[in-house]
Amino acid sequence: MSPDPRFPNPTRLRLRVTATAESILRSGHPWLFADSVREQNREGQPGELAVVYDRQDKFLAIGLFDPDSPIRLRVLHAGRPVTLDDAWWRQHLRAALDRRRGLFDGRTNGYRWVNGESDGWPGLVLDRYDETLVLKLYTAAWLPRLGEIHHALLTDLKPHRVVLRLSRNIQEMAATRFGLREGFLANGENTAPPPDPAQAATVFLEHGLRFEAEVIRGQKTGFFLDQRENRRRVETLARGREVLNAFSFSGGFSLYAARGGAESVLDLDISAHALEAARRNYALNTSDPSVARCRHQCVQADAFAWIEGGGARKFDLIILDPPSLAKRESERARAIQAYAKLAETGMRLLRRGGILVAASCSAHVSSAEFFAAVRGAVRKSGRPFEELETTGHPPDHPATFPEAQYLKCIYLREQGGAPASAGRAED
Ligand code: SAH
Repeated sequence: MSPDPRFPNPTRLRLRVTATAESILRSGHPWLFADSVREQNREGQPGELAVVYDRQDKFLAIGLFDPDSPIRLRVLHAGRPVTLDDAWWRQHLRAALDRRRGLFDGRTNGYRWVNGESDGWPGLVLDRYDETLVLKLYTAAWLPRLGEIHHALLTDLKPHRVVLRLSRNIQEMAATRFGLREGFLANGENTAPPPDPAQAATVFLEHGLRFEAEVIRGQKTGFFLDQRENRRRVETLARGREVLNAFSFSGGFSLYAARGGAESVLDLDISAHALEAARRNYALNTSDPSVARCRHQCVQADAFAWIEGGGARKFDLIILDPPSLAKRESERARAIQAYAKLAETGMRLLRRGGILVAASCSAHVSSAEFFAAVRGAVRKSGRPFEELETTGHPPDHPATFPEAQYLKCIYLREQGGAPASAGRAED
């Protein structure tokens, strides 16, 4: 085989690791940390393939090497030895696509095709918004392989266009070493000129509702696809209710509530930009009679302060979906307190018989810790809440190891009769 010009050293990069790391890799965990590497036969470049051998000198795993990251190797495959040829890569992509087969009908064309490590593609996310694919890279190790990936996407998924997104920590290296920046991908390694922002919104369907995704500049890949199933549950709980959608972003929960027969929905977010998108999304769906009938309002404010301030207004259904409150482990304890306080103050705005939906997207706060914080706030209120359910990741966002689990949500309803406003829908 002729040498790969990207990785000219033909000697296979080989690693030997500590006994603990060996058993962690054997158990299927996808990360090998730098301080677990005992031996390395030579220097390696970002994105090079490296093989881990165990103490018996047997193949243990193969993955993407990154000399600049504390996660020194991201596992692509563990177990029996394999050759990562073109056929293997294509099969690897197909496996992720097959995992989603049957999950969505024609009413949903926005969802995640590939969810990083949990789909065997460490540090790589692929989202579909109708005919647009958004490829988001979280590790520099993929940068030298972008051409191949792009080619595979074109072959297997035939998108109308592909957008490249880069996590902040790799943007500089992408620009200086690979000439890559965020934007449309033209032919794998080169991006087209920076897009006109007006072009950059893609309209897609989620359970029959129309939404705009800001694929080039928006948070994540342009939309919070991970909350889809929680939004759908909210639709079934919303009839006749006045709804507060706190940390609304582009108003996703509100549109489901409106379609489910809510009397009114209030989008509360600190970002004027998010609320402009919420207004546009609402307008995209007013052909639905329930959406047209429902009153929609936007309030731009700091939601923590707005809720704590308590205003005069009360609601029958409150959704609390703040951004991650613990970006790092050291912020965990404080985040748990903040979740408890948010639930506590949120509950004060809830009418009798109301429903509280509280979500957390902090990976550093476990489900158990988050649910305990919200349940504690409920007990403190002294009101008779029943727990309807708790939810985790939707099926297109699998999370196969602890660090990947970030999303959790709890539904609580106050017992003791219909909400005060339930009768009004029939008036
Ligand atoms: N529920 C949304 C996703 C929420 S993302 C959905 O289903 O799409 C978190 C949102 O919180 C972002 O839109 C961000 O602008 C907003 N936000 C961050 N800090 C805030 C604050 N202090 N007050 C209000 N909104 C805030």
